[in-house]
Amino acid sequence: MLVKTIALDGPAASGKSTVGQLLAQELGFLFFDTGIMYRAVTLAALEAEVPIDDETACTRLAEETHIDVRPPTTDDGRTNDILINGADKTWQIRTPEVDANVSEVSTYPGVRAALTQKQREIGQRGEVVMVGRDIGTVVMPDAPLKIFLDASAEERARRRYQERLDRGEPADYEEVLSIVRQRDQIDSTRDVAPLRPAEDARIIDSESISAEDVFRIILKFAQEKGIA
Ligand code: C5P
Repeated sequence: MLVKTIALDGPAASGKSTVGQLLAQELGFLFFDTGIMYRAVTLAALEAEVPIDDETACTRLAEETHIDVRPPTTDDGRTNDILINGADKTWQIRTPEVDANVSEVSTYPGVRAALTQKQREIGQRGEVVMVGRDIGTVVMPDAPLKIFLDASAEERARRRYQERLDRGEPADYEEVLSIVRQRDQIDSTRDVAPLRPAEDARIIDSESISAEDVFRIILKFAQEKGIA
């Protein structure tokens, strides 16, 4: 039987979340953003003052931290409530401090093993659009539709910068660009599950097309595969 799943990968701010949410809404699927889990473990480490280079302690946090994604209870632009060990950390997982440390935490094999297992359990239920860096290559290699979304670092940094301004947060474009580049570098060169398209992924360059158009392109692929 066809397990209806869409694996949506790509670098930071390539539009995965926006497009993934549109797809999930259209198809009546669950939208699952795996980046939240890596961010949650990173925030848990920062809050517990665990040194980010302490791989053993970060791995233990990945195994023990309870991460929950619930429908939004506050009308402040959030799409979900993100609870970490029961506390609302929806915006705390998006701070520049988490951005600057999450890729290092994501290189640890033990952290990845713990989170990958949880992601697979969700994927196996089907009817899910799962978003991340290694969904098509590692988490759901059997997904019937795999998409790799890309855009230049400058365009992606511009989007992230605008998001921050829209939320009324202070932002510096050059700083955002430098963190985007740094995360790209760490994510694509790590030994375990590096950021790269699966061999059978469809690659979409979102540089100059809107999220709506990317959504429509993927929806057509999904229809061809019998997922939609
Ligand atoms: O997608 P987002 O920017 O929220 O992801 C944050 C970080 O989590 C990424 O830069 C990457 O280091 C890590 N990540 C990962 N594998 C995934 C999802 C995210 O390594 N499947």
